[in-house]
Amino acid sequence: MRGQMMYQALTTGSLIDHAARYHAGTEIVSVATKGGVERTCWADISANARRLASALDHLDVPAGARCGTIAWNNRRHLEIYFGVGAGGRVTHTINPRLSPEHLIYIINDAADEVLFFDHTFLPSIHQLQPHLKTVKHFVLMDPRDEEALSTLGSLKFFDELVAHGDAQHAWPELDETTPAALCYTSGTTGKPKGVLNSHRSLVLHALGGNQPDGTCISARDSLLPVVPMFHVNAWGIPFIAAMAGARLVLPGPNLDGDSLLKLLTEEKVNVAFGVPTIWMGLMAALKSSGAQLPDLERSFVGGTALPPSMINTFRDDYGVELIHAWGMTETTPIGTINMPLRKHSELPLEQQREIRHAQGRPIFGVELRVVDAEGNTLPNDGESQGSLQVRGHWVVECYYGSKEHALTDDGWFDTGDIATLDENGYLVIRDRAKDIIKSGGEWISTVDLENIAIAHPGIANAAAIAARHPRWDERPILLCVRAQGSSVEESELLANYEGKVAKWQIPDRAVFVDTLPMSATGKVLKNRLRDEYGQILAE
Ligand code: ADP
Repeated sequence: MRGQMMYQALTTGSLIDHAARYHAGTEIVSVATKGGVERTCWADISANARRLASALDHLDVPAGARCGTIAWNNRRHLEIYFGVGAGGRVTHTINPRLSPEHLIYIINDAADEVLFFDHTFLPSIHQLQPHLKTVKHFVLMDPRDEEALSTLGSLKFFDELVAHGDAQHAWPELDETTPAALCYTSGTTGKPKGVLNSHRSLVLHALGGNQPDGTCISARDSLLPVVPMFHVNAWGIPFIAAMAGARLVLPGPNLDGDSLLKLLTEEKVNVAFGVPTIWMGLMAALKSSGAQLPDLERSFVGGTALPPSMINTFRDDYGVELIHAWGMTETTPIGTINMPLRKHSELPLEQQREIRHAQGRPIFGVELRVVDAEGNTLPNDGESQGSLQVRGHWVVECYYGSKEHALTDDGWFDTGDIATLDENGYLVIRDRAKDIIKSGGEWISTVDLENIAIAHPGIANAAAIAARHPRWDERPILLCVRAQGSSVEESELLANYEGKVAKWQIPDRAVFVDTLPMSATGKVLKNRLRDEYGQILAE
């Protein structure tokens, strides 16, 4: 016997339809690539998404075709998110910070037929064009622009396509397992790999991610996703915002601290999303301007470990709760979010605060386990450290283009992270498996060492890496960027570790550098640091 309830396919079209029907006038604020602010609303986003889908029909772009985007967070990108996916095609968001080789590789691997791009990227598209074998339509996300046309030769204009489209265009009826979005991992080791999200997985991710102990977004919120729409669907925020009918503020190209501070203030944003480096920039802008953040209540932070010192500064100095979250491209990405339990309110304040340092606990729809080297599941005791594995409704099964599944024999995805889980499911990421330091057979977490360095007022940013050592195999060293005006020295910084970690975990050296090399997704490129500094103890 089957249940006797209505069946409706879970599609991203249903999300934008809901926003257009019940939150039509809710504002979408969009910082334009060439400057200035555009104001639109969910009804207009929906109408333009339908117009775009009908325009793609007229161009004979087939169902299932991949349509690439190289663009900032702006309203046209939002229209593409819905118009392409709900129209039965696949939005392939591309990270413009990747190397030209990786860009060419993933556009060809995805076999993109359409490539939408912001004006900023015209010069790089011009260079890539001869290598892009499958792209039939290059679309500039702007009104008609003769100069751009003369640069690229064959070019279409987003605004013209949309102007000729049909605002009443009906979405095709889609099976909910139809793909809607394609995101590649950044490929810091090896080639980037594609993760193909289905409509069903995106809608379930939005529902699951937006539980009260998840992002908890409502129609009363004004959101600023600083996390780019070209990275893991901006953590699913465009879909969550449509489902909740929230106001969206899309920051465009300028993500420096001063620009964000201005936007947060002028647009009265109360919830924001971004990686730790973004909030480091904002913190510097706050300090130098003496400004406050009267409207911002909370900000979700993930992508790399969020230093506890940063949580404290935002809470104590600005009244903003930074909420730690963990996920990855392969998990759409939301896996865990750090919200406390009822029983935690009885703990002393210091302990309550400490709980918020972890990466959080799984939301409904995600299961986690840690396993040892033999694949045995370790206890959730907050101490047993092992490989973190995940399964759930929005976790990858196969990478794009691969016939083999990417899972363990018993159906879990191995994240490549080393972690502990406690009895309530709180996750602590100790390291990425490839970054953890093994000194004399004992593991040292680089995350712990970095958090201590970053908490020092003289340090703006720090990375701990393994350096080769003749006796201990590997020993930790620190690469540090001094805060502006600071003259902190190596000996002082290393002395600061006394009593905070075991003696044998204290780094052997602290080396000061001007900047740390960053990946396209805001992570420190430790392989590059290891290449450069990995031998300094062996010399
Ligand atoms: P990439 O393409 O670089 O793999 P992802 O965004 O998919 O980019 O990265 C996922 C990885 O980022 C996770 O496996 C984990 O190592 C790291 N990560 C994400 N969130 C956190 C966090 N809150 N704390 C520590 N590491 C994190």
